[in-house]
Amino acid sequence: MATARKDKPGKIRVLDSATIDRIAAGEVVERPASIVKELVENALDAGAATLTVVLDEGGLVRLSVEDDGHGIPFSDLPLAFERHATSKIATAADIMSVGSFGFRGEALASIASVSRVRCLSRTADEDVGGLLELEGGEMVRREPAPRNRGTTITVSDLFYNTPARRKFMKTAQAEKRAVMKVLTQLALAHQEVRWLVKADGEIALDLRPAASLTDRARDLLGSSVMEHMARFELAKGGFSIGGLASRPTWTRGNREQQFLFINRRPVESPALQQAIVQAYREVVPPGRYPVVIAFLQVPAGEVDVNVHPAKTEVRLLMEREVFGLLKSSLTEGLSLRQAADLRPWLGAGTGQGGGTDEDATRRVAEAEGDALRRYFQRGASAGYEYKGVAPGQGQLFGASALRGETTDDETAFAAPRTTGLGADQALHPAPYWQLHRTYIVTQIRGGLVLIDQHNSHERILYNEAQKALDERIGVPTQQLLFPAHLELTPGQVQAWQTHRDQLTLMGFVIEPFGGQSVLVQGIPASLKNWNEGRLLLDILDDLAWDDKPSQENRVDLLASYACHGAVRAGEPLTVPEMQHLVDQLFATDTPLSCPHGRPTLIQFTLSDLEKRFGRA
Ligand code: ADP
Ligand code: MG
Repeated sequence: MATARKDKPGKIRVLDSATIDRIAAGEVVERPASIVKELVENALDAGAATLTVVLDEGGLVRLSVEDDGHGIPFSDLPLAFERHATSKIATAADIMSVGSFGFRGEALASIASVSRVRCLSRTADEDVGGLLELEGGEMVRREPAPRNRGTTITVSDLFYNTPARRKFMKTAQAEKRAVMKVLTQLALAHQEVRWLVKADGEIALDLRPAASLTDRARDLLGSSVMEHMARFELAKGGFSIGGLASRPTWTRGNREQQFLFINRRPVESPALQQAIVQAYREVVPPGRYPVVIAFLQVPAGEVDVNVHPAKTEVRLLMEREVFGLLKSSLTEGLSLRQAADLRPWLGAGTGQGGGTDEDATRRVAEAEGDALRRYFQRGASAGYEYKGVAPGQGQLFGASALRGETTDDETAFAAPRTTGLGADQALHPAPYWQLHRTYIVTQIRGGLVLIDQHNSHERILYNEAQKALDERIGVPTQQLLFPAHLELTPGQVQAWQTHRDQLTLMGFVIEPFGGQSVLVQGIPASLKNWNEGRLLLDILDDLAWDDKPSQENRVDLLASYACHGAVRAGEPLTVPEMQHLVDQLFATDTPLSCPHGRPTLIQFTLSDLEKRFGRA
């Protein structure tokens, strides 16, 4: 799409009637949001690097789009507002291979016919720019006017001359929301562009050109969701797909935050939405939707954008292939299948999962699942070791515990109110059991798993710290009530100085405290074992006088941190702590092994059990 951008305007021509007949008919001016979309796409087609959008009362009173693109020559200004006049295609044959967003030559004419329009523009070749004003589509003013290179189009009094249509407008607030949604989509797809959006005198968006989709998405969607997002990418036979999607730990009650693009055009595609549903089917409850930002790149000849006037619906010639590609890129990129098979699972009738239960194995699994659960419940009352949450426990374990959200009155199999799941995510109670204060046992779809609490927590801490270092975004810190004063050896001092910035990113707040000592004021929120400073001293010992290359050094730091920081075998865990740990484990990209490559869990499938019990 970017290849279509030019420094200079092409000649605007009125399309011939044969071409006009081939263009999907229909109105593009429905509401302020559709006008903003057309004007912004024109600006992007003109190669704009900076865009300023101004809205008054949701755009109903006034809206304007200002760009620094190639501009419209003074001589072409009236033509730009004529129907079927475009500089982007010449013949019908160009439609299938069109590289620009626009090609219908109708937007400006349609907009002008139902409002008052002011267009100020200048090209690089002209000494002065030009001003054109229209009312209800009639030109009322045309004169030279100064401007930097680029174009500003201001649309006032929308539908002033068609009161019937005006009545269909929603409140200014609703129109503003719709405009912001369109701008969010376009800003995600054009991260290289600087966006400034003002609404009723206030800055609604101020986006500097972003280096990555992650950066742009963080600016638009907020940083909390970004902690749950993973990248996915897949290419096959000339088609490619890539983007960001939330792990099953973060979902929403609607599809508002699913953004699909085909060749950088925002599209609405029921088929692709269905591909997302299928990819997540086993790992998120029905009615919950992950956040997805997906960019599909397909060869120009494979997509027909000429089916809907606003081009939000497109026809994919190879829809099945693209469907499959999106589904597998998500399943693979987010390890959804792995997670689906190994996630704690309650059995039939819980609303969890939701796949077909046609096949017999699964029915067996479900029946067995209930039996297993009854067994666990009986176990609990029979006095097997089980730790409920006692007051004051779980304080140092995980962000939710830190927020004080675990409560005193949670009972054995009640769903804890908070987990690593999205705040409003419905949660089904799942039984967790701690064996020998070392292993967590819980049911999965196809049997049961034993989870090693130390190895798993190591994996969680390692990945969290690694991400903090990679992306240079610090992990949450837990402020210590009583800062710890630690006396360091010379080797520890050297290690601290070498890794100071990294330790800060990992969540430690450490200040020099004179001589060889430091004052520790904060530690990573996910730590359980701080041991009054022993943890930090152990890490610094491991790294003392380490003079390996920095990349290896970093691995040593992460491994040492994860190993010393993780809960140990022999430590009692509460049910919410176990659940939090398991949730966090499955939220990592690599839930199946610890950083040293040891397994985090062992699986017992139902057929294993059947064999052992002589059932098979
Ligand atoms: P289309 O985009 O389908 O060509 P429009 O009615 O949206 O039709 O625009 C008509 C023509 O006006 C475009 O082909 C382009 O040459 C010119 N134009 C519109 N907006 C801009 C802009 N912001 N910068 C430069 N040229 C523009
Ligand atoms: Mg256009």
